[in-house]
Amino acid sequence: MAMRAMVQELGNQIAQENLNRPLTYEQLMNRHRDQLTKLNISLCRECFIPIGKEEGEHCNEVRKHYLVRLRGLQPKRHAKARKHISISDE
Ligand SMILES: [Zn+2]
Repeated sequence: MAMRAMVQELGNQIAQENLNRPLTYEQLMNRHRDQLTKLNISLCRECFIPIGKEEGEHCNEVRKHYLVRLRGLQPKRHAKARKHISISDE
């Protein structure tokens, strides 16, 4: 199976599991650690969708949302500054 298809399947599986019984981010990470490591991906902390490790802990959508909320910036105009702003749950 192609890598992308496997990532997608894992994403669907996690979404399905989460519908049946909501898990915390840590529980999901633990449960799927082997596969996540094998595919070299991570999960978004907010929406639990598979994301590339280089994306950090949040998907693009959440990062955009945080940026707009925290900084009152227009993501488009400040696209270049984006990678320098780190986001924390604390
Ligand atoms: Zn997300």
